[in-house]
Amino acid sequence: MLNKAVAIDGPGASGKTSVGREVARCLRFRFMDTGLMYRAATWQAMRLRIPVYDDEALTQMTQAMDIDLTSSDCGDRLLINGVDATAELRARDIDRNVSAVSAVEGVRRELVPQQRRIAEQGPIVMVGRDICTAVLPDARTKIYLDASAEVRAERRFAEMNQIGMAVTPKQVLADIERRDRIDSDRAVTPLRIAEGAVVINTDDLTITEVVGKIIEAVRDC
Ligand code: C5P
Repeated sequence: MLNKAVAIDGPGASGKTSVGREVARCLRFRFMDTGLMYRAATWQAMRLRIPVYDDEALTQMTQAMDIDLTSSDCGDRLLINGVDATAELRARDIDRNVSAVSAVEGVRRELVPQQRRIAEQGPIVMVGRDICTAVLPDARTKIYLDASAEVRAERRFAEMNQIGMAVTPKQVLADIERRDRIDSDRAVTPLRIAEGAVVINTDDLTITEVVGKIIEAVRDC
C-alpha cells in the first residue's frame, strides 16, 4: 500500500491541477500532473509530424523521449529532450490531439512506469485519468473529481481568455466533450471511477472547499 499517495482522477478541467497542487502544499507532499506527460508526447508528435493514428511511430517516439518534469509552488516546467515545451503544452492544438495520443497502448506502456517510479520516491499527490485505477491502485486515498461539461468548459474558457487565446465558449465546450468521449471510450485504462474512490462534484464548490474535502478524506483513510 502506498501509504502516502493521494491519487486524483477526473475529466478535463474538473479542477484536478489547481486542487491537487494546493492539497500537496497543505500536506507537504510532492505534486505531479500526469496530463503534462501526455501533452509532452503530443507536442513531440506534432513537432515530428507523426500522425495520431500511427501507433508504432508514436510508441517509438515515446521510448526515445526524455521528459524532465519539475513541479513547484510556482508551477511546472517540462523539458523534452532538453527543449523547454512548458509554454506550449496547453495550446488548443495539443488539447485537440492529446486524447488520441494518450489512447495508444505503447505510449502508456512507456509513461505509466515512469509515473510509478516517481510515486515510489516518497509522498505525492498525483492527478490524471487512470491514477486510482491503473497507475497507483494501492494508493491509500483515492479521489474522483467531477463537474458538468458546461461548468468545466466555462472554467477552461476563462483560463484561455485570460491568456489571450482566440476561442469561443462553444468551441471550448465541444473540445471538452470530444476529449471526454475519447478518454472514457478508449480500450486501455479508460477514465472510470475507481472502487473505493471518494467522488466529489465540484460544480458548486470553490477550490478551497474541494481542498478541504480531500484533506478530510486523507485523514479518514
Ligand atoms: O489533465 P489534462 O487535461 O492535462 O490531460 C490531457 C490528456 O491527457 C487527457 O485528455 C487524457 O487524454 C490524457 N491523460 C491520460 N492519463 C492520465 C492523464 C492524462 O490519458 N493519467
